[in-house]
Amino acid sequence: MKRFLTLGECMVELAPAGDQLYHQGFAGDTFNTAYYARRLLPQDWTVGYCSAVGQDAVSDDMLDLMRGHGIDISGVRKVADRTLGLYMIQLINGERSFSYWRRQSAAKLLADDPDWLETQLDGASMAQFSGITLAILSPEGRNTLCAALARARANGTHVAFDTNLRPRLWEDEDTMRAGLRMGAEVSDTVLPSFDEEEGLFGDATPADTIARYRDCGASTIAVKDGAGTLTIWDKTEGTQEFQPVKIDSVIDTTAAGDSFGAGFLAGLAMERGIAASAHLAMAVAAQVVQARGALVDLDMTDIEGTQA
Ligand code: ADP
Repeated sequence: MKRFLTLGECMVELAPAGDQLYHQGFAGDTFNTAYYARRLLPQDWTVGYCSAVGQDAVSDDMLDLMRGHGIDISGVRKVADRTLGLYMIQLINGERSFSYWRRQSAAKLLADDPDWLETQLDGASMAQFSGITLAILSPEGRNTLCAALARARANGTHVAFDTNLRPRLWEDEDTMRAGLRMGAEVSDTVLPSFDEEEGLFGDATPADTIARYRDCGASTIAVKDGAGTLTIWDKTEGTQEFQPVKIDSVIDTTAAGDSFGAGFLAGLAMERGIAASAHLAMAVAAQVVQARGALVDLDMTDIEGTQA
C-alpha cells in the first residue's frame, strides 16, 4: 500500500452564522491537502494525517470527521492536558477578521517525540508539511521535524513543502525566512506563492523565487500566483508556464493553495509528469475557489475531463 502523509495542525473553526451565532467546523491547511489528496488518489493509496490532539470530546469529533473523509488517523497522537487550537472568524463591515486561541494547542507538540515521528514517516511514499507546521513548533521542534523529514527523504520518501506564510505565527521575519529555507532544504518539491515571496524576500519575478529554493536543493518548484501565470521549474524539464482556468466569479479562495498542492502532488504521486500534474492542480483549485468553504465536494467528472 502506498502512503501519502500530511503533517500539521487542524483547528476548531467558528464561522459567523448570523445574530451572534457561530458555526463550528474544523480547518487546517495540511488537513485540507489530505482531504483533496484522498479524493484524487486511487484506493491503493492510504492518505494519512499526522498531528497531535487532546484527549477530549472536541478532538474526538475532529478525528471522526477525518475518518469520515477516508483519512487514516493512526498517525494522530493524543496528548493529555491539551486540546485543539481554535479560531473565530468575525465579519466587521463585511471584512473577515480572525482571532486565534492556539498557544496551548496539542499540535505544537507534534515533534516532541522524535521516535514516534520517525515511525509515522517510515515507509511513506510522499510526506507533505507547510510553513504553518513549522511556525507552530518550538525551535527544537522545527529541528526535530526537519531532521525526521530529511531521514525519510534519504530513505526514499518524496517530501513536499507548502510555504504558507503566516507572519503572526513566527517569532519575527528573520526567523520566518530562516524557517522557510530550513523547510525547503529537506524537500523535493516546494510550493510557494509569488505574492508572499515578493513581500518577504523582495523577489521581482517567479524566477527569483525558483532560484532561492533551487539553491536549497529542491528538484521541483511550483510558484503559484492566484489567477496569474503558474511557473514551474523542474530539475529535468526546466521552466514551464501554465495559465490557470479562467473563472468569471470567484466565490471563496479559502484552501485554493492547499487544494492546488493536493492536485499537484497527487499527479506526481501517480507519475503523470509535471504538465499533467499542473493541469490537475489547477482544475482542482478552480473548483475550490468557485465554492464556499475549505472542503469542497469535487466534481470528479470535470477533473477527469481535464486529465484527458
Ligand atoms: P495560495 O492560496 O497558496 O496563495 P494562490 O492564491 O496562488 O495560492 O492559488 C493557488 C492556485 O489556485 C492558483 O495557482 C490557481 O490555479 C488557483 N486559483 C486561485 N485563484 C484563482 C482565480 N482567481 N482564478 C483561477 N484560478 C485561481
